[in-house]
Amino acid sequence: MSEPSTPRFIPIADQRPSAIGIPDAAWGQNALMPAVGLLTDARGRELRDLRISVTDRCNFRCSYCMPKEIFGKDYPYLPHASLLTFEEITRIARSFVAHGVQKIRLTGGEPLLRKNIEILIEQLARLKTEDGRPLDLTLTTNGSLLARKAKALKAAGLQRVTVSLDGLDDAVFRSMNDVDFPVADVLEGIQAAHDAGLGPIKVNMVVKRGTNDHEIIPMARHFRGTGVVLRFIEYMDVGATNGWRMNDVVPSAEVISLLQKEFALTPLEASAPGETAQRWGYADRHGGHDNTAGEIGVISSVTQAFCGDCNRARLSTEGRLYLCLFASQGYDLRTLLRNGSDDPLLESAIGHIWQGRADRYSELRGAKAADAGTGVRRVEMSYIGG
Ligand code: SAM
Ligand code: SF4
Ligand code: SF4
Repeated sequence: MSEPSTPRFIPIADQRPSAIGIPDAAWGQNALMPAVGLLTDARGRELRDLRISVTDRCNFRCSYCMPKEIFGKDYPYLPHASLLTFEEITRIARSFVAHGVQKIRLTGGEPLLRKNIEILIEQLARLKTEDGRPLDLTLTTNGSLLARKAKALKAAGLQRVTVSLDGLDDAVFRSMNDVDFPVADVLEGIQAAHDAGLGPIKVNMVVKRGTNDHEIIPMARHFRGTGVVLRFIEYMDVGATNGWRMNDVVPSAEVISLLQKEFALTPLEASAPGETAQRWGYADRHGGHDNTAGEIGVISSVTQAFCGDCNRARLSTEGRLYLCLFASQGYDLRTLLRNGSDDPLLESAIGHIWQGRADRYSELRGAKAADAGTGVRRVEMSYIGG
């Protein structure tokens, strides 16, 4: 299927928004009191999930994320000195864990492009939650380098992976990644991850109307009964470069009705608080969940906001802390690290920032676009990760 019309791209030289400093209350001498331990934000939400972007570069040019027209050879990617080192990332992660983070996801850009990523994984795998358990340590990848790296990632301490794959039809997939990358190589990567023990594996499919919605059923057929959890993601209005239009979104409700024409599905409970996906199990003859057939998920970021229990913080490649995927500014933790601040101060700063968090973009989207007409530039998905 072809695009219904030419997408609208907004040419902007540098998509990165400016950083904001750490609030006064978080600084040592000005701090009213340190903010340490388990804290909730201004809407009572705990801090449980940290997503760390390890690179702003990618070898794909998915049209919904890094359109070629913007992310061309002249795009000003971050210079190496701007990136957080592995030691800096681990220090920040430790402070987040002290505030209750139990899950860390490495993302990007394409995280497997970051040189020696296994060393970072080894460092993060040594961190323990407040009650002494290992972290849930995972990574989202486009799968292109997974066949080569799966064993080393597992050996370094990675527990599982999520692989993005937008269709099984080779022509559709090559055109969506826009670098002519074949489906077969991603499937090989998924198999290698499975063989290395990086499961349960999740596969993310961003569904774009008229582009890959006809791949929903073939994808479900392919992964049913394999142990892989396939998740259909609504195409989001993240960033400012992908020319997003509501018409391109296939609501999750539509995905589920389509699947129900071929498969019996039964709703499943969320497996963790703040989970982004609504889970559906393949049903057996009696309507119960058939575990051998497995499950699918839908992530309804556009049509059904899940800000109410959003427990996710995001750390950009250059050390800015974002409190929402749709934020326009991030808090500059790198300066704090590089000006010699000690761990208690870092932890206090993160605590104060989280306590002030009131973000709920997706909830407000329906009522009114939070930044409509204000000229506010939202952060790009490739900069901050999914
Ligand atoms: N490069 C890796 C990958 O593609 O898996 C990790 C980074 S990517 C930004 C993380 C996730 O965000 C991917 O699953 C991708 O499909 C998803 N994503 C990117 N842009 C999106 C958009 N506009 N709407 C919904 N999901 C999007
Ligand atoms: Fe790269 Fe992932 Fe964005 Fe695709 S979605 S361009 S693979 S960062
Ligand atoms: Fe969380 Fe922001 Fe997404 Fe709401 S819009 S679920 S606050 S990241």
